[in-house]
Amino acid sequence: MTGTTSRPRVHIVGAGLAGLSAAVRLAERGHPVTIYEATANAGGRCRSFHDAKLDRLIDNGNHLMMTANTAVLDYLKLIDAGPVLTEPARASYPFLDLTSSRSWHLRPSRGRFPWWIFDPKQRIPGTGTLDYLKGLRLGFAGKNDRVTDCLDRENPLWRTFWEPLVVAALNTPPEEASAYLLRRVLTETFAKGEAACRPLVAREGLGPALVDPALRFLQHRGAGLRLGQRLRRLDLTDGRVAALDFAQETIALGHNDRVILALPPQAIQTLLPGVDVPLDSHAIVNAHIRLNQAPAWPFGNADEALPEVPFLGLVGGTADWLFLRGDVVSLTVSAASRLAESPNDAIAARLWADTAKALRLDPAEQPPIRVINEKRATFAQTPAALHRRPGPQSAWGNLLLAGDWTDTGLPATIESAIRSGEAAAKALTLP
Ligand SMILES: Cc1cc2nc3c(=O)[nH]c(=O)nc-3n(C[C@H](O)[C@H](O)[C@H](O)COP(=O)(O)OP(=O)(O)OC[C@H]3O[C@@H](n4cnc5c(N)ncnc54)[C@H](O)[C@@H]3O)c2cc1C
Repeated sequence: MTGTTSRPRVHIVGAGLAGLSAAVRLAERGHPVTIYEATANAGGRCRSFHDAKLDRLIDNGNHLMMTANTAVLDYLKLIDAGPVLTEPARASYPFLDLTSSRSWHLRPSRGRFPWWIFDPKQRIPGTGTLDYLKGLRLGFAGKNDRVTDCLDRENPLWRTFWEPLVVAALNTPPEEASAYLLRRVLTETFAKGEAACRPLVAREGLGPALVDPALRFLQHRGAGLRLGQRLRRLDLTDGRVAALDFAQETIALGHNDRVILALPPQAIQTLLPGVDVPLDSHAIVNAHIRLNQAPAWPFGNADEALPEVPFLGLVGGTADWLFLRGDVVSLTVSAASRLAESPNDAIAARLWADTAKALRLDPAEQPPIRVINEKRATFAQTPAALHRRPGPQSAWGNLLLAGDWTDTGLPATIESAIRSGEAAAKALTLP
């Protein structure tokens, strides 16, 4: 463990998905790995836990993935996670406007050509083909463009498509958000057609899907996991990391040992003050509500005999998304820094009002609700932040960086975190 062993060890600090992704790739190649994590659990911003108030396993927040997330799918295959994600046979996104009670399904076409925008029955209500074609402007978005430089807020698609998409994908208000990153999202999803756009949701929770199988995989390969170890300082000597200083102990590194810091940007700034990182962030607020029984789900695809998806996009209320798992309904509000300042009771009341309306429940009967306020859910994905995303290499020979905020070219997502871990593992040259 202290570097006296014959084979060089890779010390990975941070057991979020970036750290786990680096660890499983290195363990697959047979390298000795130890992961250090400050908290009592692995998973970081993507975790499940048993909530005593609801008496249910819940996630810190709803996470939506897509079939375009090839790194996620490869990671799950490598760790032999099994069928832990739900995938509908066809991409379908149900939406409900809480103000008008109008509902629709967004169903991208098979193949790359978006036939659906020419069909009034497939289009979002109140929109015409031209409204969609105006979005082509995004194809020319440069690194300094904001979404609102490229898209018109007066377009009928703004409220029902662009705004929900930007907020969900970039967790940043559209007037600040990077158009370039949105372009990357569209290039990897809608531009590839329906097969790349199928929504993926963790069947039993984020922990059982993305974290627990990785920990099993690592354990079988002899990797170490040290929980409750907060890295306080790095001993940087002669252009390399010589030791890791944790609150409880100092780990001296062997000559050929390597370090991957898979930490949020705020931690990197403290540990490596000279490194430029994106520090501004936005909140995501989630509320988990335990109902008396699993509710009727009126948003299926009955007309096309397609399987239902366990979520619903909302416009016109406070919540952006509503997810259903058994008798627990979970609401998400992204780019929620202002809402996050409200007391939890007030947040719970607002999100219950949306839920009661969407699921046609009695608004007076508010059930137990757990509000989870992730104040630094992701970095603020602005044009300025794009210039502060370092790659995996650092100025120190044996030190690499990983995390959803590093320069993966993608928004801060599970896919980005997993790709960043893979990139760091690949960039390691081990004797
Ligand atoms: C509420 C919410 C909803 C989201 N929704 C989606 C979604 O729908 N789809 C999607 O793809 N993504 C979503 N994301 C983003 C996704 O969760 C993140 O991109 C991903 O989990 C980041 O992983 P990471 O490993 O880069 O960072 P983290 O998960 O933050 O991992 C960093 C780890 O380092 C640990 N650590 C910090 N400091 C120290 C230290 N000094 N010493 C040791 N350990 C330390 C932390 O405890 C943490 O475990 C969401 C995030 C949130 C919060």
